[in-house]
Amino acid sequence: MKFGGTSVGDVDRIKNAAAKVAAEVQRGHKVAVVVSAMAGATDGLINLCRSVTPHYDLREYDAVVSTGEQITAGLMALALRQHGLTARSWQGWQLPLKTDGNYGNARIMSIDGDKARERILDGEIAVLAGFQGINDDNRITTLGRGGSDTSAVALAIAIKADRCDIYTDVAGVYTADPRIVTKARKMSRVSYEEMLELASLGAKVLHTRSVELGMRYRMPIQVLSTFANALGSDTPGTILTDGDETMEQNMVTGIAYNSNQAKITLAKVVDKPGIAAAVFAPLARAGINVDMIVQTDSTETGSTDITFTVGKNDLERACKILESERGTIQYSNLQSSADVTKISLVGFGMRSHSGVAATMFETLASKGINIQVIETSEINTSVLIDEEYTELALRALHTAYGLDGQ
Ligand code: ADP
Ligand code: ASP
Ligand code: MG
Repeated sequence: MKFGGTSVGDVDRIKNAAAKVAAEVQRGHKVAVVVSAMAGATDGLINLCRSVTPHYDLREYDAVVSTGEQITAGLMALALRQHGLTARSWQGWQLPLKTDGNYGNARIMSIDGDKARERILDGEIAVLAGFQGINDDNRITTLGRGGSDTSAVALAIAIKADRCDIYTDVAGVYTADPRIVTKARKMSRVSYEEMLELASLGAKVLHTRSVELGMRYRMPIQVLSTFANALGSDTPGTILTDGDETMEQNMVTGIAYNSNQAKITLAKVVDKPGIAAAVFAPLARAGINVDMIVQTDSTETGSTDITFTVGKNDLERACKILESERGTIQYSNLQSSADVTKISLVGFGMRSHSGVAATMFETLASKGINIQVIETSEINTSVLIDEEYTELALRALHTAYGLDGQ
């Protein structure tokens, strides 16, 4: 049972979550618990780092931000003991949950669930601090924002759990973010593949890597609300399942958005072999991820415009690098904007339906929303638009693809 930040947002909520765990134990289940930091705690810790220096060392960032989960793990163990249960908190290093050395966004290399499993089978509840691990240098690492979901699925796999329940502040996975699209519908099931796509395109209800892990190890994952009365065994949330089960699919399964992007355009780049490499290689060397890319046709003019997106946090650095490479790239002008959102339609149905993209463009046009970049893959169609129109676009598209519920 994994509880997210809002679910453990204060002491009463921690007690509420503990009561849910106790009820599962009462039903005869053996339980391991994974907790996030209390809502807002991680943001607060990051701000503390920033207030010392905006260019903080990532090793120390991890030392600081991992503490949020340490607190909740201890408090949760205390709350469970109040129910007369035996419970013990575990930090990542105590399992251990081993990661690579990529501070701030570390990947799990291995996780030893043997000791924890033994004690769980003896009736003790293991409460693991999510989000954190330890690397080969014996230093604490964190798994990237939202990473407690990945800790939970990894622990579930390591202790050979029957299921991993992700308790959060919404009732499951919806056809779009229910906080923006009030007509979004809760899905009773969603395939791992489509969930992976939705998560990586911005639906933050599950950390992308948790879905990846669940899919690879076939761990049944359920997303459900902490605040509803139902318990995990009643399976009232959304279950992640294999493949496409339904015979006839909708065109679109769900819609995601990502406002964490920024757009860069290099105008009048001389069009010759090697120019794309000259633009993107220095960015890659600096560890900057590039997402959408478009290049205009150069037949008439001999020069081309290259537009692409990077994470908002990387915008300043990316622009500096491109300015310093101007001699090699030879563009006439660099423009950038942080006020953009990527909107993505996701669904297996796209493989067999035609006109998915056309409906998207017509819908956005009818609302007067300009499309800046378009990108398609097998099961997603994405556009980049002005950030100001995010909510309007999401709602209009949700209606256009027949996803609206009551
Ligand atoms: P937790 O703290 O429990 O990990 P998160 O804030 O990380 O919770 O994720 C839950 C949030 O994800 C919801 O409150 C909701 O606003 C957002 N969300 C975005 N897309 C979706 C979606 N398709 N279905 C459900 N929730 C979504
Ligand atoms: N507390 C971490 C974060 O806010 C991890 C998580 O909640 O999943 O990103
Ligand atoms: Mg989360």
